[in-house]
Amino acid sequence: MDTTCKHRSEVHAVTPSSWGCEDCLRAGTSWVHLRVCLTCGHVGCCDSSPQTHATKHFRATGHPIIRSYEPGETWAWCYIDQLLLEGVPGPTRGTPKRPSVSKSPAL
Ligand SMILES: [Zn+2]
Ligand SMILES: [Zn+2]
Ligand SMILES: [Zn+2]
Repeated sequence: MDTTCKHRSEVHAVTPSSWGCEDCLRAGTSWVHLRVCLTCGHVGCCDSSPQTHATKHFRATGHPIIRSYEPGETWAWCYIDQLLLEGVPGPTRGTPKRPSVSKSPAL
């Protein structure tokens, strides 16, 4: 595998901060897909989501690598290298613990 990403050392065994995008939950906005920061566990929404909180988290903190938080997906993305990393171990959303006011799942 030819990877030039030097930020894998910043990947930690994180505990996701939330069951959904924590910034969207706070603001009452919706998301499409979820990403989890592999540096601190921040859960944010993808660039297909209106608020793009995962990218905003990178801009605010400089944490370089996010991972998909969608079931069955193991890829991660380094913002700094603009590089897709395959087969990255990390937390995966299992059975979603959604509150009773949940929105329809993003498929
Ligand atoms: Zn990198
Ligand atoms: Zn969001
Ligand atoms: Zn982070």
